[in-house]
Amino acid sequence: MRIANLAGRLVLITPDGAVDVHKASDGRFSSDPQAVYDRWEEFRAWAGGTDHGGAVPFDPADLGAPAPAPRQLLAVGLNYREHVSEAGYTVPEGMPPVFTKFVSSLTGPVTEVKLPAGGHTDWEVELVVVIGRAARGVPETEAWDHVAGLTVGQDLSERILQFEGPAPQFSLGKSYPGFGPTGPWLVTPDEFDDPDDLELTCAVGGEELQRDRTRHLIFSVPALIARLSGVLPLLPGDVLFTGTPSGVGLGRSPQRWLADGDELVSSIEGIGELRQRFTRS
Ligand code: ZN
Repeated sequence: MRIANLAGRLVLITPDGAVDVHKASDGRFSSDPQAVYDRWEEFRAWAGGTDHGGAVPFDPADLGAPAPAPRQLLAVGLNYREHVSEAGYTVPEGMPPVFTKFVSSLTGPVTEVKLPAGGHTDWEVELVVVIGRAARGVPETEAWDHVAGLTVGQDLSERILQFEGPAPQFSLGKSYPGFGPTGPWLVTPDEFDDPDDLELTCAVGGEELQRDRTRHLIFSVPALIARLSGVLPLLPGDVLFTGTPSGVGLGRSPQRWLADGDELVSSIEGIGELRQRFTRS
């Protein structure tokens, strides 16, 4: 199953287009795309048990974030070995670095992003998990049962602010407006042959900059859910960015940053793609 946020309304994505959930369910489910995660099991049963007509074509530019207003947004750093090396750190063992992207940075999949003045803005394609069932102290073997679905994310990062001061402040440097594109839709785990092994790529102006597979995550999706839910409850609709593979601008020689007019395309196998255009003013 695929669901999306089309112009602020929850829709099912079918081969024929988008089906408005509020209308198709005769008002049983809210049109609010975030509200569905609080009734995820009930929604899945309804969505899977009915043949929903009334699909209409849509423009991907009208899509918003699949989970636009999570109570918590957790993001993980240093979760692919080659990225750990290029960033100049050592491989984390018990727990990877965890930070937040402030929720106001979340957007949909097709956007224009203003580059912060004087900044060094970098790309990080990432698999993003949305929680469907509250998780507290969940073992790895049960972790996928708590996942509503997967989507594509870009953890856009302004490196000067990120590393300014006596200690890095990941959250602030990664939370400028538009720095958290997600989408184009949420895909439930059962849609994948193996949800732990998905190819992710990103390119600027057609030049490929990152390509890896999620089986190379140091902390897999189940490992992250087990560790994080051992510290704090993960709530329905929470968003988890799982870390980026190597190939970011920070780790290049010479270093490279997003520039005025660049178009960044980020994709994950079996999900879809994000498309960001950057401007200086
Ligand atoms: Zn990241």
